[in-house]
Amino acid sequence: MSLSGLCQVCEAAMASHACDRCGRAVCDDHWDETVRACAGCAAGPR
Ligand SMILES: [Zn+2]
Ligand SMILES: [Zn+2]
Repeated sequence: MSLSGLCQVCEAAMASHACDRCGRAVCDDHWDETVRACAGCAAGPR
């Protein structure tokens, strides 16, 4: 898993976090620090 690419949610900003749940690399805007998961997983049913 590399963090050198773009955020896999918006594909507009550099990814700076890797989600442990789905494995996607996401930018700060799409990272939820409180649950330590990407925005998609943080907003999901689990
Ligand atoms: Zn993003
Ligand atoms: Zn995720």
